[in-house]
Amino acid sequence: MFDYLIVGAGFAGSVIAERLASQKNAKVLVVEKRNHIGGNCYDYKDENNILIHKYGPHLFHTNNKEVVDYLSNFTDWDIYSHEVLAYIDGKKVPIPFNFNTLYEVFPLLKAKALEEKLLKYYDYNSKVPILELKKTTDKDLQFLADFIYEKIFLNYTAKQWGMKPEEMDGAVTARVPVFIGRDNRYFNDSYQMIPKNGYTSMINSMLDHKNIKIMLNTDFKEICELKEKDFYLFGSKFDGKVIYTGQIDELFEYKFGELPYRSVDMKFETVEKEFYQEKATVNYPNDYDFTRITEFKHIHPTNSPKTTILKEYPQEYIIGQNTPYYPIFTNENQEKYSKYLEHSQEFKSLVMVGRLAEYKYYDMDDIVERALEVFEKEVR
Ligand code: FAD
Ligand code: UDP
Repeated sequence: MFDYLIVGAGFAGSVIAERLASQKNAKVLVVEKRNHIGGNCYDYKDENNILIHKYGPHLFHTNNKEVVDYLSNFTDWDIYSHEVLAYIDGKKVPIPFNFNTLYEVFPLLKAKALEEKLLKYYDYNSKVPILELKKTTDKDLQFLADFIYEKIFLNYTAKQWGMKPEEMDGAVTARVPVFIGRDNRYFNDSYQMIPKNGYTSMINSMLDHKNIKIMLNTDFKEICELKEKDFYLFGSKFDGKVIYTGQIDELFEYKFGELPYRSVDMKFETVEKEFYQEKATVNYPNDYDFTRITEFKHIHPTNSPKTTILKEYPQEYIIGQNTPYYPIFTNENQEKYSKYLEHSQEFKSLVMVGRLAEYKYYDMDDIVERALEVFEKEVR
């Protein structure tokens, strides 16, 4: 009946389902345990008629034109450049930390001197990860690096990850580098935009194909069994391929131990005024228990006397109780993941792809690129 079973209707599963159905005329069954498609990119209109992102703010940005061209088959776009402020010492200043921030947090002469020092060592418009800047031997830049580290990174990272920046892979804090220039945007990519009618609508048009059947509210394990090296779908041996986008440790019943994740308690609030804050997101590195507040009206403009905000409270991930959002990057966890990866490769008909399946901090554009690559190389 089906040539492929795809587990998970997030970006990874949906892109591969779409390619298989439209390019190979293959029959695809997509099974999704949630009651909706879209994975963590799922958005919907709330009671204030505002399009909100249920699993946290999702901003599309990429330098990859192929990804944009591919997704443009399924959506029109609105131009949108994300800007973030950080609440530091009672003041909201632009981040990534840049020259504008410098002049907001220091007196004029001090800011000028630091700007000159930065330009002595780094190119204009370049990005410097905080953990790199911390290695400087220049006394003034050491002072600046310590300031940025303490005011922006140390406590935010402690809330988000329960760790210090240097205890994790440097790539995590390098996502928000110190910017040697005056660009206040959170990302510098050449394509920054938002699907006109949201992510769910875009993914819905990907999956809208006669060859694709979707089963919502269904866990993979309810319909499929893994016996030795074979899959049994609805009780019969399945000869097709299984594309799995869920957690790799769960699939193999935690045989090498649990892969740790960070979770987030997403708390939405309606505020009885037209706007709550100046920009879409304000980060609170040092104050309160949440990391950031996002106001969705800035992302999807809506005429409404009310506004919806989201406060994110990071938490430890506990199986069965909350959602695994962020893989945690330590050597120990990577070693554990490698054991699962090796084990998964013993199953000829199994392809693991996605943020959970590959235990990687993929952004949306990364996952679309990866899914297209997997389709070309491993599935076709
Ligand atoms: P997912 O979206 O997690 O989809 C996997 C799907 O599989 C889920 O729907 C799950 O329910 C289903 N599933 C799992 N196990 C089973 C099972 N056993 N049976 C059936 N179904 C199963 N990226 C950006 O580019 N920009 C951003 O601003 C951004 N912000 C983010 C903010 C947060 C808080 C988070 C957590 C992520 C953010 N991302 C962002 C990353 C983005 O969410 C991911 O790149 C993308 O969702 C990954 O898609 P995926 O298909 O791999 O995983
Ligand atoms: N970060 C920080 N302070 C900030 C913003 C980011 O310390 O104000 C660090 C933190 O460790 C965070 C990482 O940089 O987890 C990546 O931030 P990003 O905004 O990319 O996180 P995401 O949107 O993926 O949650």
